[in-house]
Amino acid sequence: MTTTTAYPHVQLMINNEWRAAKGGAVIPVHNPATGDVIGSVAHATITDLDDALAATAKGFEIWKNTPANKRAETMRAAAALLRERTPAIAELMTLEQGKPLAEAKAELGMSAEIIDWFAEEGRRVYGRIVPPRMANVQQMVLKEPVGPVAAFTPWNFPVNQIVRKLSAALATGCSMIVKAPEETPASPAELIKVFMDAGVPAGVIGLVYGDPAEISSYLIAHPVIRKITFTGSTPVGKQLAALAGKHMKRATMELGGHAPVIVAADANVAHAIKIAAAFKFRNAGQVCISPTRFLVDESVREEFVAGFLAYAQKLTVGSGLEAANAMGPLANPRRVTAMQQLTEDAVKRGATVAAGGERIGTAGNFFAPTLILDAPLDSDVFNTEPFGPMAVLRSVKTLDEAIAEANRLPFGLSAYAFTSSIKTAHQLSSQMQTGMLWINQPAMPWPELPFGGVKDSGYGSEGGPEALESYLNVKTVAMTSV
Ligand code: NAD
Repeated sequence: MTTTTAYPHVQLMINNEWRAAKGGAVIPVHNPATGDVIGSVAHATITDLDDALAATAKGFEIWKNTPANKRAETMRAAAALLRERTPAIAELMTLEQGKPLAEAKAELGMSAEIIDWFAEEGRRVYGRIVPPRMANVQQMVLKEPVGPVAAFTPWNFPVNQIVRKLSAALATGCSMIVKAPEETPASPAELIKVFMDAGVPAGVIGLVYGDPAEISSYLIAHPVIRKITFTGSTPVGKQLAALAGKHMKRATMELGGHAPVIVAADANVAHAIKIAAAFKFRNAGQVCISPTRFLVDESVREEFVAGFLAYAQKLTVGSGLEAANAMGPLANPRRVTAMQQLTEDAVKRGATVAAGGERIGTAGNFFAPTLILDAPLDSDVFNTEPFGPMAVLRSVKTLDEAIAEANRLPFGLSAYAFTSSIKTAHQLSSQMQTGMLWINQPAMPWPELPFGGVKDSGYGSEGGPEALESYLNVKTVAMTSV
């Protein structure tokens, strides 16, 4: 298929103006399906960041004084525009990120839904009146927007990762500078344009790209910024959280995972295969909640492995622009190298590669859907998030053994289980160390549900009313009439 959308040279957006970086530096953008350079993105300088900071400070004053229902109206208009522009934006996303067009469209559909939900929820940010201890006293708890926010978002869901942050910020009256991913810059730029066209005032949103470490260290330390929010790897998250602590900034951290999948002896195995295999290879496994460590009761292992293998081996892999392909390339060559290293390490330690385990072709970042059996617990793949199309499977003898292994790693983002026993489901829900547990179903992270992790997977939520709270300060006001 040829695209109808030309890939752009993406610019910075500061104070509702698109502009090149001061000095004109750019970063090339590659198509992960071919390796070809398809465009570029502006590389912000410190002067650009200073301009963005001045604009966001001004934008915050305007937006926090805009009534919540007016903010909601503008956000709903943005959601409508996003739906209208989905076909063109989805093509850009597939060109720069690789995911199948159908997945890009689904991401944009969910993004519009998230914007709508936060728009409405922002109208329900209530304070409270607290009963006083004397008759002439009134005590109030007020909720106020925390201030200008800096957001750092990754390339795996180029639009959705911004939307979860931006929607909560806008709904509560905050302004935001988004440092979007340099590898996938065009679809985020289109998202920001949607908000501008919907009428968000100048300065409320800023969009920058450049050197991630330079931008984050400058913005986090800057007095204008009152909160930061980051989605990405645990090592980078720890660095940014430490910086936020140093400068006493509020922080939300949505970091890596290594999701366990427990298949109990009494599971509906056919159902488990259908759900878990399809979800594993979505976005070529580059999903922080991707199911990865399969802990399968030994009594159902044979049936599970056979079904999972059949699914993995018939998955069509190729350019995301072709409707026939169910899985696209990895987003960057780093991920292919990581898949190769994890496979080599597992094989060296005695594991069996039941499917995949190798790169496909030489052009683009294609890697075959992979199932690795019986990698030892100390192998890299059982400890490091693959963030690619790779599942690892071991048999377990008891539910307690499965839960112990699930909880062994420092991560705790998402976990899955398949069982037809309510007793097992209860045990799992009380003993699993995870931010989200999905039993007999894929992850369905609707905007109304909290989304976030525990342990090294971070803190804070990017969904539900909890997401709004992290953009709000609480102020106690007590007044006595004299
Ligand atoms: P990485 O750790 O280099 O970068 C991850 C993200 O953080 C990227 O978007 C990058 O631009 C950004 N980043 C890196 N250093 C930064 C800094 N100092 N300040 C601000 N932002 C910074 O890893 P990568 O190779 O891009 O991705 C691979 C790993 O990242 C994966 O293994 C996965 O664990 C993690 N990741 C997680 C998510 C998620 O949804 N939680 C998304 C993308 C990547």
